[in-house]
Amino acid sequence: MATTELTGAEDVAWDLGDLYDGPDDPRIESDIAEAEVDAAAFRERYHGKVAELDAQALAEAVAEHERIESGVVRPLTFAHLLFATNMADPTRGALVARLGEKAAALETQLLFFPLEWAAVPDDAADAVLADGALDQWRHHLLSARKFRPYLLTEPEEKVVTEKTVSGVAAWSRLYEEQLGALRVSLDGQEVSLETAMAKLYDTDRSQRRTAAEAITEALGPGLRTRTFVFNTILLDKSIDDRLRGYPTWISSRNLANETTDEAVDALIEATTSRYDVAQRYYRLKARLLGLERLDHYDRMAPIAADTSKASWEDARSIVVDAYTDFSDEAGGIVARFFDDSWIDGPVRPDKRTGAFCATTVPGVHPYILMNYTGDRRSILTLAHELGHGLHGVLAQPLGYFNSSTPLTTAETASVFGEALTFERLLADEDDPRRRLDLLAGSIEDAIATTFRQIAMNRFEHAVHTERREQGELASERIGELWIEAQSALFGDSVSIDGYTPWWSYIPHFTGSPGYVYAYAYGYLFSLAIYRRYVQEGDAMVEPYLELLRAGGSRSPEELARLVGLDLTDPAIWASGIDALAEELDEAERLAAEIGLG
Ligand SMILES: [Zn+2]
Repeated sequence: MATTELTGAEDVAWDLGDLYDGPDDPRIESDIAEAEVDAAAFRERYHGKVAELDAQALAEAVAEHERIESGVVRPLTFAHLLFATNMADPTRGALVARLGEKAAALETQLLFFPLEWAAVPDDAADAVLADGALDQWRHHLLSARKFRPYLLTEPEEKVVTEKTVSGVAAWSRLYEEQLGALRVSLDGQEVSLETAMAKLYDTDRSQRRTAAEAITEALGPGLRTRTFVFNTILLDKSIDDRLRGYPTWISSRNLANETTDEAVDALIEATTSRYDVAQRYYRLKARLLGLERLDHYDRMAPIAADTSKASWEDARSIVVDAYTDFSDEAGGIVARFFDDSWIDGPVRPDKRTGAFCATTVPGVHPYILMNYTGDRRSILTLAHELGHGLHGVLAQPLGYFNSSTPLTTAETASVFGEALTFERLLADEDDPRRRLDLLAGSIEDAIATTFRQIAMNRFEHAVHTERREQGELASERIGELWIEAQSALFGDSVSIDGYTPWWSYIPHFTGSPGYVYAYAYGYLFSLAIYRRYVQEGDAMVEPYLELLRAGGSRSPEELARLVGLDLTDPAIWASGIDALAEELDEAERLAAEIGLG
């Protein structure tokens, strides 16, 4: 959604000069060429020999492996960032595609290394890992072995890897292309699904309803094809899991996320048993919108009565102050993002929508892309991305392998930074209506990140399980399972007439099975840390920064212990949801106070 109002962010452009001088910088080609030569030499030197390496030699090999990988990430990141600010420029698109292919080819060259290492028998690996020479790489090397019980023989793995390209990866791409080609008839025009979805944020209810009906209509044709593709992907995963011996459909995902089936079950139980919190919120939202009951297309409707905008300068001082209040060190790092042009700020034509932080750029600071519009949400998004940025800067000295985090801890600093900024905005606001707007916005985001993702996980659980037990599923059946999972979440608080085929627009289900619950995991984990900070005050600052400095060099459970939290205790999830319920109490109180209750 473009804004014509000026915010002062219009000229805030990032300076990619810290990566390369420009798309024609000869160092891009020479860096890639060097990585190719080094990867070939690495393969020559270590292929077939990983099991024989002693601790010292293994440490050298891992360091070299990291150096080669880092060398590829830098040009690739540059290409992606360049493309993100102008996606209509074909030369930028071509650079991304060309470097992407080179990186994939290089990755194939290096694939043997983690595979051979994982194949080393446990006692031999334990003996090598006990050596102090491997201190720096222990977590990385142990992580590479976690899939060991589920690996096939090397020739089998080779067949699986090569057949994936023409198998599940091809099906997944077909699904995405089908979605991309969908056209929605809206006001006599054919628009993309994304454009139609954006209408669900419209203040005018009839616009939202028209868009939702048009989307339901557009999801009809092609549903059989998408159902077939989804079934095929479900089958492929069940075959893979059976051959590898994974106990459940979600086990491989949990392992990649460095968590356990038990912890994830506890998260799901804690969330599904409190669906009443989401339902209470949707009833409040109906009252705020002056409706009897929400329809599914009202869930994203804006509720803020106050639509005044904050300038880029205001947003900057709010966010920098929020971080500085927490810690001078954190505030100083966050300020550098503004001072040193590490942020691309404004909404621009052909720029990527949304926001992101490119955290892991070996040897260089992170970069942040924003589409700053000046509303409250936009300030919190800025705080969110700066949290990622802070995490990136603090963990960077560990290097590329040790600073990368699994999805389950990737949102630790971003959610925390958002909470710091939110409390500041709330503290500065006396007007009950504007306080209510702030709280409702925060609760709505939290529900989208926790309850909604877990409801989607329940849908995935149902389809994966039924596909395994009963064979191919008709699209009507998938629709029923979708509605069951959504009804459990909404109860009678939201009408979901016409919502049946909407499962089929969500690319995660086919592109990354089992992915969505990690949003809830990461969010509630971060919220738990924030609550400890609220209780303990400054005593938590150093342990928290220590956690960020540890990047991905330790498991989520070990990281949690740094701040005194036990991730195996189910209470950690329940307490986050209790906190949300308390915010909701306050929002309901304010609504009653101003006569909207
Ligand atoms: Zn994030």
